[in-house]
Amino acid sequence: MAKAKTIYSCTECGASEPKWQGQCPSCMAWNTLVESIEETPTSNRYANKFEGLAQSSTLQKLSSIKAADIARQPTGISEFDRVLGGGLVEGGVVLIGGDPGIGKSTLLLQVLCHLGKSAQAIYVSGEESPQQIAMRAKRLGLDASEVELLAEINLEKILATLQTHKPNIAVIDSIQTVYSEALQSAPGSVAQVRECSAQLTRIAKQLGITVILVGHVTKDGTLAGPRVLEHIVDTVLYFEGDQNSSFRLIRAFKNRFGAVNELGVFAMTEKGLREVANPSALFLSHHDGQVSGSCITVTMEGTRPLLIEIQALVDESHSPSPKRLCVGLEQNRLAMLLAVLHRHAGIPCFDQDVFINAVGGVKIAEPAVDLAVLLAIVSSLKNKPLDNKLIVFGEVGLAGEVRPVQGGQMRLKEAAKLGFTKAIVPKSNAPKSKISGLEVIAVERLEQALNQLRNT
Ligand SMILES: [Zn+2]
Repeated sequence: MAKAKTIYSCTECGASEPKWQGQCPSCMAWNTLVESIEETPTSNRYANKFEGLAQSSTLQKLSSIKAADIARQPTGISEFDRVLGGGLVEGGVVLIGGDPGIGKSTLLLQVLCHLGKSAQAIYVSGEESPQQIAMRAKRLGLDASEVELLAEINLEKILATLQTHKPNIAVIDSIQTVYSEALQSAPGSVAQVRECSAQLTRIAKQLGITVILVGHVTKDGTLAGPRVLEHIVDTVLYFEGDQNSSFRLIRAFKNRFGAVNELGVFAMTEKGLREVANPSALFLSHHDGQVSGSCITVTMEGTRPLLIEIQALVDESHSPSPKRLCVGLEQNRLAMLLAVLHRHAGIPCFDQDVFINAVGGVKIAEPAVDLAVLLAIVSSLKNKPLDNKLIVFGEVGLAGEVRPVQGGQMRLKEAAKLGFTKAIVPKSNAPKSKISGLEVIAVERLEQALNQLRNT
């Protein structure tokens, strides 16, 4: 056998380089290249052979295919079904990523115990021993009598077991512990994670097994990250949120069977993850009095409006380059908003440190939060509290204009439902008919919104 050639593969994106470098040239991540063995095509027994051995496949007309709705299997946890787009799909492969210990195994054990009652469910564990899993099920008060367990990390044996038993659902916890004999690399390496996921996906499609892969996100880069296999699977879900709080968020990043960016909200209890029935008010900090630097906005997470408090702290800077820090929001967007604030409202912040925080550890990607960020900044700078029954949303453009956002009506209705009485919104988002209990102030420019601040 020829001597194995050493290459360096990125644990973030899976790209391979002949030489070690500090930064991955493909995804620009730092310190993610790790030494691994180059897998030669001959050592891969699943490699494509083009020697005319394969038989030609039959083609079918698209018009002859019935476009029926995909059958979905509810998991018994409605928030989880929500991010999945209605439930699990037969033959679908789901990747659940997140930090170790955030609740991935707990959630899946709950799901399997529920599904085990009506379908054959297999839990393949390479992380914990069967005793540990049994203890967890007992601690959570779950009826795990119908869940079948397989403590195995050898891919070939897992595949053979799935082929023999043909379960309806199989959980692989975790994909980074599974290894294939066909490859020389260590378990958890980019090549192994990719190959094992591809083989599991193949058997899922072939036999109609729903496969859920657990992928750990590790900071030290010793294991290949879940991003390496995002393109192989059908659905990618990530746990997010504050490790210190009892709330857990699951967001869909990719979903071939449903909408992306749906958010599921859970609370971690001693009985496992419980769905939060009314999460829209979860991310408010409920001050008794009025405080400056706080502004409440409504964001859309998928199809659901969520009320989130934006906090700003603006403080005199003694550094030649003042700090601009964001938690939960985009850093670059803040610099842009501060420039707009200076240019169009005449409020300079060049000698001020600016800190922005979205309460509750939720990540906000949409620009609809712009106006709330600016009002929170001005409120902190002038030390003038905003009305605590006020909500604000709207995208702010470079010309100082306030642009409309999607789902304006839904955002306003949710705010009214939670007892807010006043809203500053883009002109095109103003409702045609009055929403009871809510005074809507429609603005077209940033200056108009700031004038409202002066009046209150
Ligand atoms: Zn990379």
